[in-house]
Amino acid sequence: MSIANNLQNIKTSLPPHVTLVAVSKTKPVADLMEAYNAGQRTFGENKIQEMAEKWEQMPKDAEWHMIGHVQTNKVKYMAPFVSLVHGVDSLKLLKEINKQAKKNNRVINCLLQMHIAEEETKFGMDEKELEELLASEEFAQMENIKVKGLMGMATFTDNEQQIAKEFTQLKAIFDNLKNYPVPNSEISVLSMGMSGDYKIAIECGSTMVRIGSSIFGMR
Ligand SMILES: *Cc1c(COP(=O)(O)O)cnc(C)c1O
Repeated sequence: MSIANNLQNIKTSLPPHVTLVAVSKTKPVADLMEAYNAGQRTFGENKIQEMAEKWEQMPKDAEWHMIGHVQTNKVKYMAPFVSLVHGVDSLKLLKEINKQAKKNNRVINCLLQMHIAEEETKFGMDEKELEELLASEEFAQMENIKVKGLMGMATFTDNEQQIAKEFTQLKAIFDNLKNYPVPNSEISVLSMGMSGDYKIAIECGSTMVRIGSSIFGMR
């Protein structure tokens, strides 16, 4: 199957309220262009330098989502162009994004990453850390970021019930967030679901799926 075919199959299976982020990490620009020519405009990368190189080479109406863990000292390389940062999991990182966004005269959209998986290795905050961040005076002062919602990754397992349980938990936190006033925010995006679990994620309320290998093939 070609990239264009894979893309078409996935797109027809997604409900209209779900945005597809084509995760193109490690793939050459030629592959991204194949997706672009099939109509895809939103790409996800997990390394800032690789994303910046691809941004330079690709048509300028492509949108770039940073989906991986962000190192504070690299924020400056994506600040001029990134359209959504999925993996924000600390006030310190948010401060740096705000600072670099200001330098570029932009407002950068962010998702706060929540830890919902069993594995210790996955990044993200718990609910208490989320509440502390959102209630902090420093956060209220940030004029160059906009929090658009939450992102999370389920445990890597075949146990679909466990995956559904974790996504449902994240959806509940998301709904709760929509119900109380958060400064610098416009809560509408729930980023959950990858190639192996996006169908479950959508059933659990995802509005944005990040799909790589089912489009571009194995990495
Ligand atoms: C790589 C990656 C994906 C895509 O994974 P696939 O299994 O290839 O669909 C989604 N989200 C994050 C955070 C990733 O790092």
